[in-house]
Amino acid sequence: MDENQTSTKPRRHFIVQCFSGITALTLTPKLFGQVSKSILQRYHSQPWLELSKEAYLYNAAQISKMAGDKPVMAVLKNNAYGLGDVQVAKMLNGSRHIMGVAVVKDGRAIAIREGGVTKPILLMGDFDEANARQLVDYGIVLSVFSQASFEKIQALSALVQKRIQLALYIDTGLGRMGIPYAETMSIAKSISKNDKLEIVQTFSTLTTPKDFANEQIQRFNQIIQKLEEQNISYGAKHLAPSYSLLDIPDSHQDVVRPGILVHGSFPLMKMEQAKKHPLKVPFRLKAMVIRLERLKPGDTIGFSRFYKVEKDEWIATLPVGWADGYDSGAENGAKVLLGDKLYPVVNINASHTNVSLGSETDIQVGDVATLIGPDQPEITPEGFAKLIDGNNYLQINYKESIPKKTYETF
Ligand SMILES: *Cc1c(COP(=O)(O)O)cnc(C)c1O
Repeated sequence: MDENQTSTKPRRHFIVQCFSGITALTLTPKLFGQVSKSILQRYHSQPWLELSKEAYLYNAAQISKMAGDKPVMAVLKNNAYGLGDVQVAKMLNGSRHIMGVAVVKDGRAIAIREGGVTKPILLMGDFDEANARQLVDYGIVLSVFSQASFEKIQALSALVQKRIQLALYIDTGLGRMGIPYAETMSIAKSISKNDKLEIVQTFSTLTTPKDFANEQIQRFNQIIQKLEEQNISYGAKHLAPSYSLLDIPDSHQDVVRPGILVHGSFPLMKMEQAKKHPLKVPFRLKAMVIRLERLKPGDTIGFSRFYKVEKDEWIATLPVGWADGYDSGAENGAKVLLGDKLYPVVNINASHTNVSLGSETDIQVGDVATLIGPDQPEITPEGFAKLIDGNNYLQINYKESIPKKTYETF
């Protein structure tokens, strides 16, 4: 989504709703201007995400340092865990620590290239034949992950002028995706016989148990050795998602391949590493207060009447809920930043979140809340997870439709 939509689209929508009873003629440009400068200008009917380029570039540099100065291939699958794959890829494009980006869906690889990203883009999943020529035109690195996928790319190579850049995707034991390692050599030999195909990367994915991950590394290294013996070029080697990157230096190979670390979060169980290699939370999830009411003792909030009001209490409503990707566990102790104060979340449903402001408040409709961000320890993904006793990894899972706005720095 274009960042410009953040401010203009919701506003226009709101204007249309507001003035649907007035004829277009009565809404002179002058009147329109006055109205839009007041409340309409500030009105956001949906949550939004703010992303900091400075923080993303900082994280890329830190991750490279963690990996002994190896370059980083940023995994931006699942729309960069909901934070915006095109936006994040564009911000990272200028980093000398970033070798490229990786995604799983063909359409996303195309969107990232069309967004202006010039670094290598690795497609770790399959592609639709309708997108095949465009992927080749755009120089997207296609994964060979099975005999069938090799045959598909082999057939494609006869239809295009350009050489196709490939990644040899080997399954060393994750059992999910990739050429079973014992079958790798025969496929690699077939690839090497076709001049239109060029292996530019060779990769696999490690599991988390260390002893098995070490065995996977051995299997991988053996294949590399055989490729070398056969004079088959294998390009840049990579194995390490965030967890292995932090756990096993041998996993670093030529390039590391983290996802969650790029967004400033450590995989669970590796959070102690945060002290040694601090990362920045490079985003904020924000929403505006759209309703403010003083509830009375005996009143309740939510379908299940989850929250019971015991004394007069101001309750703010934010237009963001679990359907947007804000964790539904928030009502079990999460806090939200409004101004410079933290307030408890008392109810969350699909589209709305309620925050208790206490018996007196200066907060007004139109004030902006930060639900997740770097500003206070309680609202970072880790801090949020601690408060609700949840998992920080799943916490980042925002819906694609949330508008994103990128900033040079926060
Ligand atoms: C998701 C994924 C990664 C990144 O995982 P994180 O735990 O987010 O670092 C790396 N490689 C592959 C193949 C993946 O699917």
